[in-house]
Amino acid sequence: MISRWRGRRKQIVRTRFVKVKRGQAAPVTQQETDPATGFLTRPAFRRVLDQVVDSAHTTSQTVGLCVFDLDDFRVLNDTHGVAAGDSYLKGLASTLVDFLPKGTVISRIGGDEFAVVLPGLEPSRAKPFGDDMARFLRDFAPTMDNRSLQLTASVGIAVFPEHALRASDLLLAAERALDEAKERGRARAQVVDPLQKSRDRTGILRNQLDRVREALANDRFIPVYQPIVDISSGRIVSVETLCRLREDDGRLVSPDQFMDAAERFGFVTDIDRRIIALAIEALVVNKKRIAPDLELSLNLSGLDFEDDSLVADISRLVRTKGIHPGRITFEITETAAVRDLKRVQNFIAALAAEGFRFALDDFGIGFSSFRYLREFPLGSVKFDQSYVRSLVTQEENRIFVRGIVSICKGLHIRTVAEGVETHDVVKILKELGVNRAQGYLFGFPSPTLPMPKP
Ligand code: C2E
Ligand code: CA
Ligand code: CA
Repeated sequence: MISRWRGRRKQIVRTRFVKVKRGQAAPVTQQETDPATGFLTRPAFRRVLDQVVDSAHTTSQTVGLCVFDLDDFRVLNDTHGVAAGDSYLKGLASTLVDFLPKGTVISRIGGDEFAVVLPGLEPSRAKPFGDDMARFLRDFAPTMDNRSLQLTASVGIAVFPEHALRASDLLLAAERALDEAKERGRARAQVVDPLQKSRDRTGILRNQLDRVREALANDRFIPVYQPIVDISSGRIVSVETLCRLREDDGRLVSPDQFMDAAERFGFVTDIDRRIIALAIEALVVNKKRIAPDLELSLNLSGLDFEDDSLVADISRLVRTKGIHPGRITFEITETAAVRDLKRVQNFIAALAAEGFRFALDDFGIGFSSFRYLREFPLGSVKFDQSYVRSLVTQEENRIFVRGIVSICKGLHIRTVAEGVETHDVVKILKELGVNRAQGYLFGFPSPTLPMPKP
């Protein structure tokens, strides 16, 4: 069934596309290919896409860009193990190379996200191609340990010049289409929505991107600090550092206005480096006024783990500033961790060896695999705020939290509740044995570090 269809697909694809040798647009080095799949890494892919689109401007050729995301790849990793995930990817990579026209540029642009450049794709062929791609990915079902590993994929497609004129906009448009395919129920293909909605979204991201670039150039990113209290004593024991963009009029803009673009375009690590440096500096400068053991939490993004010099830079900074690494906790989310588990583990191990601590952020939403409690040397687990707020009404969630608290106690992991806004929630948290709480009830994020009560 698959092979019959694949044969048909190949014919259609091959006669319709102008072939581009992988890496033809720019020399690609070995470091620029992903070891698991042999596909281009995101930065190398961006370069190739830029050049393909540039040359399409002069030849008036169309260029299709197809991005796809494996639905539930994380679940496959969680339930069958990372080795199964890797083996799935390897198998998929070689089958995909057969399926696509020879020499097509393919890239792994994220943990479970891929991009394919299709020179010569006519806009009218975009949807049929996307449907074929979604079907191909659904039908790919390798067997491992007598079990068939089958996933679906969501596919987004955009075509130059129909949907965007610049390579970066083309990628944005295809990713937006991908988001829509997911919103519509996943396991399907979506071509860029010519309706306003997607243009709005692209416009918003463009504005955000301009804002991020400008803010980095002019040092506008600053840290604010929100207190974290010990529930039994009520004492402020720590602060979470959150980043803000400071406007000329002094207004502080929240991450939801810029983080999306910062992450998509790879600027988040620059922001995080700045925030980390400023927060550490604040600990030093305010040394005499703050509690000497005040702890500091810093958020890391998935992209930070790809920055090979970040670990060394953080260690050096903290050492030269005379801050004990045990006072610093890095908050990571599961979503960031699953992008490249091995890399994240190495990153964490290197900093943990120096005495830094780690917190698993936003626990309770998503898949919340217990696996991370064992695989990472965690100092704390932070329950997500939507989850925390639900405790008043949802008995199952209280049962879940009680269970996690007991597991964490056994593993010497501290539990922290976020988004605590009412005394009712505090009462429940106390009953459940949660150690720390953070939320508007105890303090809003503020540019100044909290002083100890006299
Ligand atoms: P997060 O790490 O889960 O941070 C907690 C968010 O909850 C913060 O939003 C905080 O202001 C908000 N919050 C705290 N207490 C309450 C409460 O009682 N009620 C409600 N409704 N909200 C509360 P914020 O500052 O807008 O940050 C949003 C997200 O942006 C953060 O979520 C984090 O994922 C990301 N982020 C913030 N700063 C940084 C940073 O420096 N680096 C990175 N990579 N990400 C950051
Ligand atoms: Ca956080
Ligand atoms: Ca959180």
